[in-house]
Amino acid sequence: MAIICLKCRGIGHKMLDCPTLKGHDNNSDPKMEPDHLATEPLAGGLASPVSQLCKRCKGFRIIDWLTNEDIRDEVVIGRDGANSQGWENKNHNSGRRLGLGPLHSIFLDASCSLCRMISRVFPLIPEDEEDWGAEYFIRPIRSYNRLGESIAPPEDSSKEPDDKYAVYAVVDSREDAMSTLSRHFGEPRDQAVYGFELAFALSHKTPAPSRPGFSARERGVTWQPDIVKSWMSRCEQKHPRCRVEWSDQLLICKMIDVSSRQIVSCPPHCRYIALSYVWGGVSPKDGALESRELPQTIEDAITVTKALGIGYLWVDALCIDQTPSPEKAQQLSMMDIIYSCSWATIVALDGNDANAGLRGVSAKSPREPQASESIDGSKVLSLFPALPQELTGTTYFTRAWTLQEYLLGSRRILFGKHQIHFLCNTGNYCESIDDTVDPGGLLDIGAKQANLILTDCTEHSEDLESQCDFADFTFRKLAGLYTNRTMTNDSDSLNAFRGMLSSLQKTFLPQGFIWGLPLKEFPQSMRWYHPRAVKPRRRPDFPSWSYVGWEGTIAYTDRLDFATGRTGGRFDEVADQILRYLGFEDTILTVDGVLIRLEVRNEPFNNAYIPGTDFLLGILQEGNFLHKNTLPQGTFDFLVVERLSFRYAPDSNVRHVVYMVMLEGELGSYSRRAMVRLFVEPGLDKQQDYSALFGRSRVVHLL
Ligand SMILES: [Zn+2]
Ligand SMILES: [Zn+2]
Ligand SMILES: [Zn+2]
Repeated sequence: MAIICLKCRGIGHKMLDCPTLKGHDNNSDPKMEPDHLATEPLAGGLASPVSQLCKRCKGFRIIDWLTNEDIRDEVVIGRDGANSQGWENKNHNSGRRLGLGPLHSIFLDASCSLCRMISRVFPLIPEDEEDWGAEYFIRPIRSYNRLGESIAPPEDSSKEPDDKYAVYAVVDSREDAMSTLSRHFGEPRDQAVYGFELAFALSHKTPAPSRPGFSARERGVTWQPDIVKSWMSRCEQKHPRCRVEWSDQLLICKMIDVSSRQIVSCPPHCRYIALSYVWGGVSPKDGALESRELPQTIEDAITVTKALGIGYLWVDALCIDQTPSPEKAQQLSMMDIIYSCSWATIVALDGNDANAGLRGVSAKSPREPQASESIDGSKVLSLFPALPQELTGTTYFTRAWTLQEYLLGSRRILFGKHQIHFLCNTGNYCESIDDTVDPGGLLDIGAKQANLILTDCTEHSEDLESQCDFADFTFRKLAGLYTNRTMTNDSDSLNAFRGMLSSLQKTFLPQGFIWGLPLKEFPQSMRWYHPRAVKPRRRPDFPSWSYVGWEGTIAYTDRLDFATGRTGGRFDEVADQILRYLGFEDTILTVDGVLIRLEVRNEPFNNAYIPGTDFLLGILQEGNFLHKNTLPQGTFDFLVVERLSFRYAPDSNVRHVVYMVMLEGELGSYSRRAMVRLFVEPGLDKQQDYSALFGRSRVVHLL
C-alpha cells in the first residue's frame, strides 16, 4: 500500500519518517514547507488514480453520510441572543463524526479515493508535538454554517429546513480552536462556527432527486468569465441596494479604453471597472500600456474587464498623473466617487506587488487544481477557503490605501489565491460553491457577515439620535481600521483616507474633517489614543493632535458623544467641560478649552496632584491601561477635552472622569504628548479647590 504522508502530503513514507520533519537531519529547503492546498505530488505520484476504497473508508459509507438529513444548524441564535440551541445541535452533530484516530496512527492509502480526498483537506499539522496525540475526525457541517450563516431560530417555522442545504465534510481535531473566522468577526454567532479552511462535498453535478443548496462546484485552474458574469447580472437585476450611480464629476477623470489600449477622457455615463491592488513599488513605465509591458496585475485587469464586456478600466497608476499637482490632490479627494461609481471593483488579493497578477486569469499564474474523486459513482470535490479566510494574512488587507478602495464600491470581484469571490452590498458568492440553489436566499443576505462594515446607511437616517450614534460608531471604527494599516510613504497619511472621509462627509458627518478628525460635529474626537500594545511613531509633517500625525493603531475609550447619556450600567451620565473647536490654520489647531496644570508623581500609580501641594486629584491613566510609570514625573499642562459625570448606582455618589490631552512645550507652542484620563477621587466634586481648576476656559493653539 502506498502511504500518503500527512506532513508533506508526499507518497511512499509515513509521517514519522518525513524528511521535512523538524529534528530530521536533512538539507531540505525551508521553502519546501507544503501548501496543503497544492498537493501536486499526489497527482504525479500515481500513474493511474483508481476509484476504490480502503477497508476503513468503505465502512464510512461517505456518500450516505454526505446526504444525511439529520445534520443540524450549529449557529442557531436563541431569542436571548445566545446560541444555546446551536451548542445543542453541535453536540448532536458530533455523534455523526467519523473517527480517524490519533495523528501518528492515521494511515492514508494513495490508492483509496477517499483517503486521497482526506489528505487534500487535512489541516496543516502544528509544529508542537503534543498535538500528535490529538484525535482527528471527519466532521459534518451544514454548508451555510461554514459560511457563517444560520437558518433561523427554531421557533421560526416559515424558514426552509436545514436539509435543503449540502453537508460539508471537514477534518478537525479539537473542539476549542478559535478559527480565523471567529477571530475575524468576534461576534457571538461566529463563536459557534469554527472556520474550516478546507472541506469537501458532493459535486453539484451529482444526480439527485432534489439537489441541495451550496453543493461543491468545479473550479478550473483558470477562471471562467461566465461565473463572474452570472454574479454581476444577479446583482444588477436583484439587488436594489447595490445600484451604481453616475456622477458628472467623473468627467474630469481619465480611463483606460480596454479595446484600443488608450488613455481617454471619461466619456459621459461611462460604465467602468476600478482596480484595487498593492503597488508594492511596482509601477508602469512610460508607454507600457501601448507596448504591452504593464505590471501583470494591471494587464490581467484589462483582460477581465474585456471578458466581462465592460469598455473602460480605471487604474490609479495610469489614470492619475503621479506628479504632485493640484489636479492630483483633486483626484485623490475624488477617490470616493471613482470607487463608488465603478460598475465593479477588481480586487487583487493575492501577492505583494503589482507583478503578482490576478490568480487564474493568465496562464502565468494558475491556481492549484481542485481535488476531485469519484466514490461509489458520485463525484466529490474539495472546497476552497471562504472569503474571511482568504482575506486573512494577505498583504492587500494590511495596506492603508486599499481600505477605502475595498469599502467604497458596491461590487467587488476578489481574485484570491484559491478562488474568485464576489462581494456586493447584498450578496457574497464564490467559485467553488454552487450558488444557483439557495432556497433560503442565504447568500443574498450574507454580505454583512463577509464584509467588515457594510451597513445600509438608509437604516440609520430615520431619527437624529441614531444617526448621530451611527456617525460616531462609523467614524471610530474606520479610524481604527485605517490606522491599523501600513503605508510606504508617511506623506500619504491623510491622502490614503481622503476618499473615505469624503464619503463620510456626504453621509454622516456633513461638516467635514480637520486633518482627519470630525472636530466640528465632535470636538471630543480629540480624545483618540494609542492602546498600550502600540508603539506610535511621529509623522512630523502632520499635526501631533491628529492621528494622521502618527503611525500606529488608534482607539477611543468609548463613543464620542457622551452627552446623550446612554452608556450601559451607569446612571445620570452627563458630559461637560467639552472643548470648543475654533479653527485651524495649516497644522495649527485653535480650540477654546480648560487648561490645567498638574503634578504627576508615579508611586504607586500615576497620581495627579495640585502642583506643590499634597492635594491628590486622582489617578491618571494613559491610553487604556492602568499602570505606574507610563508617565514621567513632573509638572505638566493638560487640555481638558471633556469631563464625564455619572453614578454607578442610582443613589451613589457622583463620579468624575476627566479626558485630557497631556501637552508638551509652552503655551503658544503646545503639542500633544498623550491622551490621559483622570479618575477623580470620590467626593472631590464638592470641593472648592477642585472646582476652581475648571473655572475658566481659554484659547489654546496646538501644533
Ligand atoms: Zn512527508
Ligand atoms: Zn481510504
Ligand atoms: Zn449586489
